[in-house]
Amino acid sequence: LAKGREVIVSRGEAVEIGGGFRIPDVLRESGARLVEVGTTNRTYIQDYETAITDATAAFLKVHASNFRVMGFTHSASLGELVELGRRRGVPVLHDVGSGCLIDTTQFGLEHEPMPQESMAAGVDLAFFSGDKLLGGPQAGIIVGKKSLVDLLKRHPLVRAVRMDKLDIAALSATLLHYLKGEALAKIPVWRMIAADIRTLENRARQWANKIGHECTVVKGLSTIGGGSLPGEAIPTWLAAIGEQGITGRLEGLAARLRQGDPAVVARIEDNRLLMDPRTVFPEEDERLIRAVKASLEPKR
Ligand SMILES: *Cc1c(COP(=O)(O)O)cnc(C)c1O
Repeated sequence: LAKGREVIVSRGEAVEIGGGFRIPDVLRESGARLVEVGTTNRTYIQDYETAITDATAAFLKVHASNFRVMGFTHSASLGELVELGRRRGVPVLHDVGSGCLIDTTQFGLEHEPMPQESMAAGVDLAFFSGDKLLGGPQAGIIVGKKSLVDLLKRHPLVRAVRMDKLDIAALSATLLHYLKGEALAKIPVWRMIAADIRTLENRARQWANKIGHECTVVKGLSTIGGGSLPGEAIPTWLAAIGEQGITGRLEGLAARLRQGDPAVVARIEDNRLLMDPRTVFPEEDERLIRAVKASLEPKR
């Protein structure tokens, strides 16, 4: 799309995502020249416009998916970029990040950009992840103008990075849940985000009662994300085990839990081992309780 030409990116969006992947490196590797505009915290549509040259191949908008800049900030909207792009004949590419197809604000979370919003705004191509908040297999998905997608399909490396049939089966199974309107009930990440707080409290109480060992129930937060929704958390109820409820140290208990079968990953906070029912499906409750009880009573 941009080999040997320039791609204009806001200075605040030349980001590094998980695993050390950096937008400037990806662009360099593709043979494009990155042209940074604006400042770390404020970039206006005029900054893009003044940077346009005969060598401009695209505007690239990148979602700052794993960090947040607060305070005196500004970025050009998708609408402004699309309008400018149309007027000056520059395609708009949007790295959306998480592939979130459901509005996160209904769960009290920040709004996470959605690919359908990019399409509605008229961007030429949108890129997003097949896992993260889409909840399917690891995959990079590109949607948009057929002429541009066709161009990408003819790249010599496409064969090397194309999806295999198992991933395609998993991705289509995931997408079918959205089409059937059952994503919240069927896709693990959405089941967890949408879990009812009263039900979580009841389950935490049942866990605590059955586990014993001075296991109590406390209010807490579930952190959402992993490359999306930075700093976002929603209220939950936790089952908590303190030092006095166990023999030995909490770290030892956490290690026995992780090494058990099934493996249980808890977290330690304020001298308590915490377990969040939001991250465990109700049908797994009995196995979890058995695993925790077994770890609390180590065989001698
Ligand atoms: C996660 C992410 C990617 C990469 O997506 P994967 O398909 O999960 O590797 C690219 N860009 C942004 C902004 C992201 O947040």
